[in-house]
Amino acid sequence: MLQCHNVLVLPFLVVFSIFSCNGQDFGYDGSEGPIHWGEKYQQCVGKHQSPIDIESQNVIEKSFPPIVYDGFDQNLEQVNVTNNGHTVMLSITKGEPPTVSGGPLSGTYAFTQLHFHWGQNDSLGSENQINHQSFPLELHVVLYNIQYETFKNALDYEDGLVVLSFLYSVSHTSNSKYNQFEEALDAVRDILASKEIDNFVSLDDFVGIDRGAYFTYAGSLTTPPCSEVVTWIEYQNTIPVSREQIHNFRLLYSHEGHLTHNFRPVQELHDRSIYFNRSDSVYSQNLNTVWALVIVFLCDKIFNII
Ligand SMILES: [Zn+2]
Repeated sequence: MLQCHNVLVLPFLVVFSIFSCNGQDFGYDGSEGPIHWGEKYQQCVGKHQSPIDIESQNVIEKSFPPIVYDGFDQNLEQVNVTNNGHTVMLSITKGEPPTVSGGPLSGTYAFTQLHFHWGQNDSLGSENQINHQSFPLELHVVLYNIQYETFKNALDYEDGLVVLSFLYSVSHTSNSKYNQFEEALDAVRDILASKEIDNFVSLDDFVGIDRGAYFTYAGSLTTPPCSEVVTWIEYQNTIPVSREQIHNFRLLYSHEGHLTHNFRPVQELHDRSIYFNRSDSVYSQNLNTVWALVIVFLCDKIFNII
Protein backbone atom coordinates (compact mmCIF):
# COMPACT_ATOMS: atom_id res chain seq x y z
CA MET A 1 0.00 0.00 0.00
CA LEU A 2 1.41 3.37 -0.98
CA GLN A 3 1.72 6.03 1.69
CA CYS A 4 0.85 9.74 1.33
CA HIS A 5 3.30 11.90 3.22
CA ASN A 6 3.64 14.89 0.95
CA VAL A 7 1.24 17.79 0.77
CA LEU A 8 1.17 18.59 -2.91
CA VAL A 9 0.21 22.07 -4.01
CA LEU A 10 0.04 21.94 -7.79
CA PRO A 11 -3.36 20.67 -8.94
CA PHE A 12 -2.00 18.03 -11.31
CA LEU A 13 0.21 16.67 -8.57
CA VAL A 14 -2.74 16.59 -6.19
CA VAL A 15 -4.64 14.51 -8.73
CA PHE A 16 -1.63 12.26 -9.21
CA SER A 17 -1.26 11.93 -5.45
CA ILE A 18 -4.89 10.93 -4.92
CA PHE A 19 -4.73 8.35 -7.67
CA SER A 20 -1.44 6.76 -6.66
CA CYS A 21 -2.11 6.81 -2.92
CA ASN A 22 -5.41 5.05 -3.32
CA GLY A 23 -4.13 2.61 -5.89
CA GLN A 24 -6.74 4.10 -8.25
CA ASP A 25 -5.11 2.91 -11.44
CA PHE A 26 -7.90 0.64 -12.56
CA GLY A 27 -11.63 0.96 -12.83
CA TYR A 28 -14.64 -0.67 -14.45
CA ASP A 29 -15.39 1.83 -17.23
CA GLY A 30 -13.75 3.50 -20.22
CA SER A 31 -9.98 3.78 -20.46
CA GLU A 32 -9.50 2.26 -16.99
CA GLY A 33 -11.94 -0.58 -17.63
CA PRO A 34 -11.19 -4.33 -17.59
CA ILE A 35 -10.23 -4.58 -21.28
CA HIS A 36 -7.36 -2.12 -20.61
CA TRP A 37 -5.99 -3.76 -17.45
CA GLY A 38 -3.54 -5.87 -19.45
CA GLU A 39 -1.78 -2.72 -20.71
CA LYS A 40 -0.36 -2.11 -17.22
CA TYR A 41 -0.66 -5.57 -15.70
CA GLN A 42 0.72 -8.35 -17.88
CA GLN A 43 -0.94 -11.14 -15.88
CA CYS A 44 -4.43 -9.77 -16.69
CA VAL A 45 -4.10 -11.22 -20.22
CA GLY A 46 -3.01 -14.64 -18.96
CA LYS A 47 -4.67 -17.96 -19.80
CA HIS A 48 -5.94 -18.82 -16.30
CA GLN A 49 -7.96 -15.74 -15.46
CA SER A 50 -11.05 -15.26 -13.31
CA PRO A 51 -13.98 -14.95 -13.23
CA ILE A 52 -15.40 -17.62 -15.54
CA ASP A 53 -18.76 -18.96 -16.66
CA ILE A 54 -19.20 -22.37 -15.00
CA GLU A 55 -21.13 -24.58 -17.42
CA SER A 56 -22.48 -27.49 -15.41
CA GLN A 57 -22.43 -29.80 -18.46
CA ASN A 58 -18.65 -29.42 -18.63
CA VAL A 59 -17.72 -29.98 -14.99
CA ILE A 60 -15.97 -33.09 -13.71
CA GLU A 61 -17.62 -34.60 -10.64
CA LYS A 62 -15.14 -35.50 -7.94
CA SER A 63 -15.45 -36.36 -4.25
CA PHE A 64 -12.92 -34.28 -2.38
CA PRO A 65 -12.16 -34.83 1.31
CA PRO A 66 -14.32 -32.59 3.54
CA ILE A 67 -13.20 -28.97 3.82
CA VAL A 68 -12.21 -28.11 7.40
CA TYR A 69 -13.39 -24.63 8.44
CA ASP A 70 -11.45 -23.77 11.59
CA GLY A 71 -12.61 -20.74 13.60
CA PHE A 72 -15.56 -20.08 11.28
CA ASP A 73 -17.94 -20.72 14.19
CA GLN A 74 -16.36 -18.02 16.39
CA ASN A 75 -17.34 -14.36 16.43
CA LEU A 76 -14.51 -12.15 15.15
CA GLU A 77 -12.99 -10.12 17.99
CA GLN A 78 -12.55 -6.90 16.02
CA VAL A 79 -12.81 -6.11 12.31
CA ASN A 80 -12.29 -3.08 10.11
CA VAL A 81 -14.64 -2.28 7.23
CA THR A 82 -13.23 0.03 4.52
CA ASN A 83 -14.44 1.57 1.27
CA ASN A 84 -11.28 1.42 -0.88
CA GLY A 85 -12.94 2.94 -3.95
CA HIS A 86 -13.19 -0.45 -5.71
CA THR A 87 -15.25 -2.37 -3.15
CA VAL A 88 -16.12 -2.59 0.53
CA MET A 89 -13.60 -4.76 2.35
CA LEU A 90 -13.60 -6.34 5.81
CA SER A 91 -10.37 -7.39 7.54
CA ILE A 92 -9.49 -8.57 11.04
CA THR A 93 -7.77 -6.08 13.36
CA LYS A 94 -7.75 -8.18 16.55
CA GLY A 95 -7.86 -11.91 17.22
CA GLU A 96 -6.84 -15.09 15.43
CA PRO A 97 -7.85 -15.40 11.76
CA PRO A 98 -10.08 -18.36 10.79
CA THR A 99 -8.46 -20.96 8.49
CA VAL A 100 -9.50 -23.53 5.89
CA SER A 101 -7.85 -26.79 4.82
CA GLY A 102 -8.91 -30.05 3.15
CA GLY A 103 -11.17 -30.33 0.12
CA PRO A 104 -9.11 -29.58 -3.01
CA LEU A 105 -6.49 -27.71 -0.93
CA SER A 106 -3.05 -29.04 -0.10
CA GLY A 107 -2.26 -26.74 2.78
CA THR A 108 -3.78 -24.48 5.41
CA TYR A 109 -5.03 -21.04 4.40
CA ALA A 110 -5.59 -18.12 6.79
CA PHE A 111 -8.30 -15.47 6.38
CA THR A 112 -6.99 -12.10 5.24
CA GLN A 113 -10.07 -10.15 4.02
CA LEU A 114 -13.50 -10.42 2.46
CA HIS A 115 -15.13 -8.09 -0.06
CA PHE A 116 -18.01 -7.91 -2.51
CA HIS A 117 -18.85 -7.43 -6.20
CA TRP A 118 -22.19 -6.11 -7.45
CA GLY A 119 -23.94 -4.53 -10.43
CA GLN A 120 -26.19 -1.67 -11.54
CA ASN A 121 -29.32 -3.77 -11.00
CA ASP A 122 -30.32 -7.17 -9.63
CA SER A 123 -29.96 -8.97 -12.99
CA LEU A 124 -26.15 -8.80 -12.88
CA GLY A 125 -23.24 -8.08 -10.54
CA SER A 126 -21.62 -11.42 -9.73
CA GLU A 127 -18.23 -12.10 -11.32
CA ASN A 128 -18.44 -15.87 -11.74
CA GLN A 129 -21.53 -17.13 -13.54
CA ILE A 130 -23.24 -20.52 -13.52
CA ASN A 131 -24.68 -21.66 -16.87
CA HIS A 132 -24.49 -18.07 -18.19
CA GLN A 133 -26.52 -16.83 -15.22
CA SER A 134 -25.33 -13.80 -13.25
CA PHE A 135 -26.32 -13.15 -9.65
CA PRO A 136 -26.84 -9.72 -8.03
CA LEU A 137 -23.99 -9.95 -5.53
CA GLU A 138 -20.89 -12.09 -4.91
CA LEU A 139 -18.81 -12.40 -1.74
CA HIS A 140 -15.11 -13.26 -1.92
CA VAL A 141 -13.52 -14.56 1.27
CA VAL A 142 -9.76 -14.38 0.61
CA LEU A 143 -7.28 -16.61 2.46
CA TYR A 144 -3.52 -17.07 1.95
CA ASN A 145 -1.38 -20.19 2.26
CA ILE A 146 0.27 -19.96 5.71
CA GLN A 147 3.46 -21.61 4.45
CA TYR A 148 4.20 -18.30 2.67
CA GLU A 149 3.65 -16.33 5.92
CA THR A 150 2.05 -13.22 4.39
CA PHE A 151 -0.59 -12.44 1.79
CA LYS A 152 1.96 -10.47 -0.22
CA ASN A 153 4.48 -13.35 -0.33
CA ALA A 154 1.70 -15.78 -1.25
CA LEU A 155 1.05 -13.81 -4.47
CA ASP A 156 4.28 -15.31 -5.89
CA TYR A 157 3.08 -18.94 -5.72
CA GLU A 158 0.45 -20.75 -7.74
CA ASP A 159 -0.99 -22.31 -4.57
CA GLY A 160 -0.75 -18.99 -2.73
CA LEU A 161 -4.42 -18.09 -2.28
CA VAL A 162 -7.87 -19.57 -1.98
CA VAL A 163 -11.04 -17.57 -2.54
CA LEU A 164 -14.25 -18.92 -1.01
CA SER A 165 -16.87 -17.42 -3.29
CA PHE A 166 -20.56 -17.06 -2.44
CA LEU A 167 -23.40 -15.98 -4.72
CA TYR A 168 -26.51 -14.17 -3.48
CA SER A 169 -30.16 -14.42 -4.40
CA VAL A 170 -32.97 -11.92 -3.87
CA SER A 171 -35.26 -12.68 -0.96
CA HIS A 172 -38.50 -11.00 0.15
CA THR A 173 -37.17 -10.69 3.67
CA SER A 174 -34.07 -9.00 5.00
CA ASN A 175 -31.17 -11.22 6.14
CA SER A 176 -30.65 -10.26 9.79
CA LYS A 177 -27.13 -11.74 9.86
CA TYR A 178 -26.08 -8.67 7.86
CA ASN A 179 -27.32 -6.05 10.37
CA GLN A 180 -23.85 -5.35 11.77
CA PHE A 181 -22.30 -5.22 8.33
CA GLU A 182 -25.01 -2.92 6.99
CA GLU A 183 -24.39 -0.41 9.77
CA ALA A 184 -20.76 -0.34 8.69
CA LEU A 185 -21.76 -0.10 5.01
CA ASP A 186 -23.76 3.05 5.77
CA ALA A 187 -20.80 4.50 7.69
CA VAL A 188 -18.24 3.97 4.91
CA ARG A 189 -20.06 5.42 1.90
CA ASP A 190 -17.32 7.99 1.38
CA ILE A 191 -14.18 6.80 -0.33
CA LEU A 192 -11.47 5.65 2.12
CA ALA A 193 -13.91 5.83 5.03
CA SER A 194 -13.55 2.97 7.49
CA LYS A 195 -15.25 1.67 10.62
CA GLU A 196 -14.22 -0.77 13.33
CA ILE A 197 -16.66 -3.29 14.74
CA ASP A 198 -16.14 -5.35 17.91
CA ASN A 199 -17.48 -8.89 18.25
CA PHE A 200 -18.47 -9.29 14.58
CA VAL A 201 -20.78 -12.15 13.60
CA SER A 202 -18.97 -15.45 12.85
CA LEU A 203 -18.16 -16.36 9.23
CA ASP A 204 -20.45 -19.40 9.57
CA ASP A 205 -23.37 -17.08 10.36
CA PHE A 206 -22.30 -14.49 7.79
CA VAL A 207 -22.64 -17.02 4.96
CA GLY A 208 -25.25 -19.19 6.68
CA ILE A 209 -25.69 -21.85 3.96
CA ASP A 210 -24.79 -25.50 3.45
CA ARG A 211 -21.33 -25.47 1.82
CA GLY A 212 -21.22 -29.11 0.77
CA ALA A 213 -21.78 -28.55 -2.96
CA TYR A 214 -19.16 -26.44 -4.71
CA PHE A 215 -17.28 -25.93 -7.97
CA THR A 216 -13.51 -25.55 -7.88
CA TYR A 217 -11.00 -24.40 -10.48
CA ALA A 218 -7.59 -22.73 -10.82
CA GLY A 219 -7.79 -19.02 -11.54
CA SER A 220 -6.67 -15.52 -10.66
CA LEU A 221 -7.41 -12.39 -8.72
CA THR A 222 -10.27 -10.61 -10.53
CA THR A 223 -8.61 -7.20 -10.09
CA PRO A 224 -5.11 -6.05 -11.07
CA PRO A 225 -2.48 -7.44 -10.77
CA CYS A 226 -4.68 -10.48 -11.77
CA SER A 227 -2.15 -12.91 -10.25
CA GLU A 228 -2.84 -16.52 -11.32
CA VAL A 229 -2.42 -17.92 -7.82
CA VAL A 230 -6.00 -18.62 -6.72
CA THR A 231 -7.81 -21.87 -6.04
CA TRP A 232 -11.44 -20.88 -6.45
CA ILE A 233 -14.19 -22.56 -4.44
CA GLU A 234 -17.56 -21.42 -5.77
CA TYR A 235 -20.48 -22.63 -3.69
CA GLN A 236 -23.63 -23.80 -5.42
CA ASN A 237 -26.11 -22.65 -2.77
CA THR A 238 -26.93 -18.94 -2.69
CA ILE A 239 -27.21 -16.59 0.29
CA PRO A 240 -30.60 -14.83 0.48
CA VAL A 241 -30.69 -11.05 0.98
CA SER A 242 -33.35 -8.42 0.25
CA ARG A 243 -33.33 -6.00 -2.69
CA GLU A 244 -32.72 -3.14 -0.29
CA GLN A 245 -29.69 -4.88 1.22
CA ILE A 246 -28.19 -5.29 -2.26
CA HIS A 247 -29.04 -1.70 -3.19
CA ASN A 248 -27.09 -0.38 -0.19
CA PHE A 249 -23.83 -1.47 -1.86
CA ARG A 250 -24.57 0.82 -4.82
CA LEU A 251 -24.69 3.83 -2.49
CA LEU A 252 -20.94 3.66 -1.85
CA TYR A 253 -18.79 6.23 -3.61
CA SER A 254 -15.81 5.66 -5.89
CA HIS A 255 -13.68 8.38 -7.51
CA GLU A 256 -16.27 8.60 -10.31
CA GLY A 257 -19.39 8.98 -8.17
CA HIS A 258 -21.55 6.11 -6.94
CA LEU A 259 -19.86 2.72 -7.19
CA THR A 260 -22.78 1.14 -9.04
CA HIS A 261 -20.84 -1.80 -10.47
CA ASN A 262 -17.51 -3.48 -9.83
CA PHE A 263 -17.55 -6.84 -11.58
CA ARG A 264 -15.06 -8.05 -14.16
CA PRO A 265 -16.56 -9.83 -17.20
CA VAL A 266 -16.07 -13.59 -17.47
CA GLN A 267 -12.79 -14.81 -18.98
CA GLU A 268 -11.99 -17.72 -21.28
CA LEU A 269 -11.57 -21.13 -19.64
CA HIS A 270 -8.77 -22.21 -22.06
CA ASP A 271 -7.21 -25.54 -20.95
CA ARG A 272 -8.61 -25.60 -17.43
CA SER A 273 -10.94 -28.15 -15.84
CA ILE A 274 -13.73 -27.29 -13.41
CA TYR A 275 -14.48 -29.85 -10.72
CA PHE A 276 -17.76 -30.26 -8.87
CA ASN A 277 -17.99 -31.66 -5.37
CA ARG A 278 -21.65 -32.65 -4.97
CA SER A 279 -21.68 -32.67 -1.18
CA ASP A 280 -19.40 -33.36 1.73
CA SER A 281 -21.93 -32.73 4.47
CA VAL A 282 -22.54 -35.30 7.17
CA TYR A 283 -26.26 -34.83 6.51
CA SER A 284 -25.80 -35.89 2.91
CA GLN A 285 -23.69 -38.90 3.86
CA ASN A 286 -26.35 -39.93 6.35
CA LEU A 287 -29.02 -39.45 3.71
CA ASN A 288 -27.12 -41.78 1.35
CA THR A 289 -26.97 -44.39 4.10
CA VAL A 290 -30.73 -44.08 4.67
CA TRP A 291 -31.41 -44.56 0.94
CA ALA A 292 -29.14 -47.61 0.84
CA LEU A 293 -31.03 -49.17 3.77
CA VAL A 294 -34.40 -48.42 2.11
CA ILE A 295 -33.24 -50.13 -1.11
CA VAL A 296 -31.97 -53.20 0.80
CA PHE A 297 -35.28 -53.34 2.70
CA LEU A 298 -37.36 -53.11 -0.51
CA CYS A 299 -35.26 -55.73 -2.33
CA ASP A 300 -35.65 -58.05 0.62
CA LYS A 301 -39.46 -57.60 0.55
CA ILE A 302 -39.68 -58.06 -3.23
CA PHE A 303 -37.56 -61.22 -3.26
CA ASN A 304 -39.48 -62.66 -0.32
CA ILE A 305 -42.76 -62.10 -2.17
CA ILE A 306 -41.37 -63.73 -5.32
ZN1 LIG B 1 -13.21 -10.14 -5.48
